[in-house]
Amino acid sequence: MKLVDFLEFEPFNRLRAAMGTRRLGYFELFDPRYHLTGAERIRLEQEGIGVSPWQVQRLVDGTFAFKNSRVVCYLANQGTAAAGGDHYHLTDCSLLLQALASVDGQERPLMVSTAPSGALPTRVGNQQGVRPFKVCEQCLQKLGFEGFDAQRNRRRGWSLQLLDAFTPARFFARYRQYPVKPEEFAQRVDAEGAGSEGDDAQGSGGWWAHLSPP
Ligand SMILES: [Zn+2]
Repeated sequence: MKLVDFLEFEPFNRLRAAMGTRRLGYFELFDPRYHLTGAERIRLEQEGIGVSPWQVQRLVDGTFAFKNSRVVCYLANQGTAAAGGDHYHLTDCSLLLQALASVDGQERPLMVSTAPSGALPTRVGNQQGVRPFKVCEQCLQKLGFEGFDAQRNRRRGWSLQLLDAFTPARFFARYRQYPVKPEEFAQRVDAEGAGSEGDDAQGSGGWWAHLSPP
């Protein structure tokens, strides 16, 4: 079946001109695989959500998204002495990858959160709690967050101050939390493409690629 090319369809073009629009419209249908529900947004902020690494998408700016929200990531079971285990991460820095490798095989080892303070929800076994976390220095360095550079003497003092006072709210003030636009994803399984694998889509070649699936 041949469809009309609506960009060349005169009645619509006249209508568009009559409406005074200069640009073509764009909208995305709600798809629970890619879009957060209202309840999920609340849960992300209040409790955090435990996920597998491939449920977290890397964005073109190097930060992370869960569905269409930017998030910070940390390990679900704190107390793992793994490197990077006591920090929340903004990027796929080597400390996060090391920490994840050390809990490889554990179900949903990663917590994602949009809580504004560094007091982040944790669980140990079935126990829910809240614990203070510090931001990962390597992530700030990788993003060059607000000029962060602890390796250059000239910037070191200021960078350490930023590190000390940092909160997720400061991160989300600079990197919009919600909604993340489709073009911000480094790679995303296309809802209409062959890869419609739903929540369990594991893909390949993602930032988690060196971790073996459970
Ligand atoms: Zn990090």
